[in-house]
Formats: sequence, C-alpha cells, structure tokens
Amino acid sequence: MGAWEANIRKVVPYVAGEQPNKPNMVKLNTNECPYPPAPAVEKVLDELDTDRFRLYPDPTAGALVKAIADFYGVDEDMVFVGVGSDDVIANAFLTFFNSDKPVLFPDITYSFYPVWADLYKIPYETPKVGADFRIKAEDYYKENGGIIFPNPNAPTSICEPVSFIEDIVAHNQNSVVMIDEAYIDFGGESALSLVNKYENLLVIQTFSKSRSMAGMRIGFAIGNKKLIQAMLDVKYSINSYTLNMPSIAAGVEAVNDREYFDKTRNMIMETRERTKARLTELGFTFPDSKANFVFVTHDKYDMTDLFEYMRTKDVYVRHWNNPLIKDYLRITIGTDAEMDKMFEVIKQYMSEQKA
Ligand code: PMP
Repeated sequence: MGAWEANIRKVVPYVAGEQPNKPNMVKLNTNECPYPPAPAVEKVLDELDTDRFRLYPDPTAGALVKAIADFYGVDEDMVFVGVGSDDVIANAFLTFFNSDKPVLFPDITYSFYPVWADLYKIPYETPKVGADFRIKAEDYYKENGGIIFPNPNAPTSICEPVSFIEDIVAHNQNSVVMIDEAYIDFGGESALSLVNKYENLLVIQTFSKSRSMAGMRIGFAIGNKKLIQAMLDVKYSINSYTLNMPSIAAGVEAVNDREYFDKTRNMIMETRERTKARLTELGFTFPDSKANFVFVTHDKYDMTDLFEYMRTKDVYVRHWNNPLIKDYLRITIGTDAEMDKMFEVIKQYMSEQKA
C-alpha cells in the first residue's frame, strides 16, 4: 500500500435505492412522487434563457429563499436552501454537531445519519426504538452533542405529534435539535410552528417527495436566523454556488402553486389509505403511516423472498439486510394503477407459494 493511501479518509458510503429505467416498471423504491411537478415548472424551464448559463447562479438562491419564506410565513433570514435535503442535513451535521458528546438518533432511522457522523468524525449513540418502532422521548433527555430524527420516521413511517417534538426540544436547550421532515406533507403536523419559540430547533424539508422534484435536488431548512447564518458560513466555506439556475427557477414555481401541491399530496394520501386496506386484507401488518410509503411485514411470507420476486416482475420496492428490519419491505405509494399492478404481483407470489 502506498504511503499516500494510509491518509485517505475512509468511509462506508450511504447506498441509495436503485434507479432502474425499464419501460413498464413499477418503481416504488425511493419514495418519489408519481405525479409530475406543478405545470408552471415545465413552462419556466422551457422559457429559460440558456445564454445565462455562461454566468454563475445567484449564490444566495434569493428568489427561492423568498418563495419558501413567503409560503411558510417566516423571515428570509430563517431559510437555508441546499441541493436536496441530503445536502442541507450534511451541512447541518458539519455546522452544529461539533461536540465531544454523542449526537443522538434512533437505531432505526434514515441510514444516511451514521454515514455523515462517521465522515465528519462525530461521536453518536443510537437509542433503540420500541418494539412498536416508536421513538422513546426519554432516551433523548440525556446530555448530548445534538439530536436528529425524521418525523415521520423513515423507514417506519410513524409520525409523532408536535407535542412530542416540543418535549424533546424543551429537554435539550443546550444542543441543536434537527427534525427531518422529508415526509411531513402527507398528513403529519410540522414542527415549523415551534421555530420562533426555540432558537435551537432546525426543521428540514425537501422538494423531492411532496413537490415532485427529486430530480431537481432542492431541500431547505428553517430555523432561527443565528442557526441559518452559521449554516451559510459553512456553505460559503465549501461551495458558494450550490443550486443551479434551472433548480432555482423551477423551485420557485413549485412553491408558488399551492393548489397543485395540495391536490397531489391529497391524491397520494387517498391512495395510501386504500393501499393500507388492501394490504390488511392480504394479511400484511404495518405501523400506521403518515408518509408516502408503508413499512410492511407478513407472518406467513419471507420479505426478502417477496422483494426478489417482485423485482423479477419489475416491481421495485425497498428492502434492507439490516437484521432489525429484514422482515420488512418499504413500499412507496404510487398511482392507483401502479398499486393495482403491485397487488397483482403480490397475489401471484402468494398463490405460487401455496401451490
Ligand atoms: N431524509 C429522509 C428521511 C429521507 O428519506 C430522504 C430521502 N432519501 C432524505 C432526507 C433526502 O432527500 P433529498 O436529498 O432528496 O431531499
């Protein structure tokens, strides 16, 4: 091994869900939205003046920051935007988790958190969720270097009320508490109502799910202006121009169309409720989801086997080899037609098992 190799920063990277591209596939594996973005997004992209691509984009992404601030009724200096919420969360880890005390996040949660912690050499502990997969607030009452968890949690889909979030923030005034609300628009109640009350609370959201824009890579954080300024200082110490021109322009249009946003997320919630009923009929069990996915298991069938079977039929869902959740599948809510096709494949699998 060359001496230079000993100095490489070694990391075990996060593994994103696969992005197959087959003509008739049913892709329910990465919690994307099955509906297109708001109509004005297409229009603004068609009208983009590509000559302007010679120039750098606005480093503040000011138009997008303003649109988000207006939508949520907060000041512009309370909004930070990044290249997907992954970029926002990575920045927040680097900015706020800078203590010798361990950062806390649940043992079953978004599997990117331990990757960032390892990358930035942040100590962490992972309190166990209960047998019902719920986060136990008491586990977060001890001294720590910061706290993060998604609400609804991923991949469990369980959403806690704002009173639960407030309890954890109130117990942790000495560290930054981040709530990752990637899936909050599907029936949960946002902790944004608390950001003016607690200066150490950072709420993170994304355009990738409820705003149908995973491909544009837009995420944002809202919090006290001191938190946002600290994040901006770190951002400008790495890369000033994070969001590109098309993303900024498309993002503004996506936020401005509140009606379309409400329509599409309601469609997903309706399909989710129908999907839950059909899953129950087939004997699956799952925590009650307030996300755009369900986290299912079945006591008669092996979920790894079902996952592989569905894959051979071009129906993609998500399965982890993690021993804590290996008996579960995470299924994204697609269109009604996509769910019909998925159920057809599941029924076919079940009948072949009996035969
Ligand atoms: N947080 C959670 C809990 C997620 O599941 C995801 C999606 N993988 C993200 C953050 C990141 O999403 P994005 O970077 O697309 O905003």
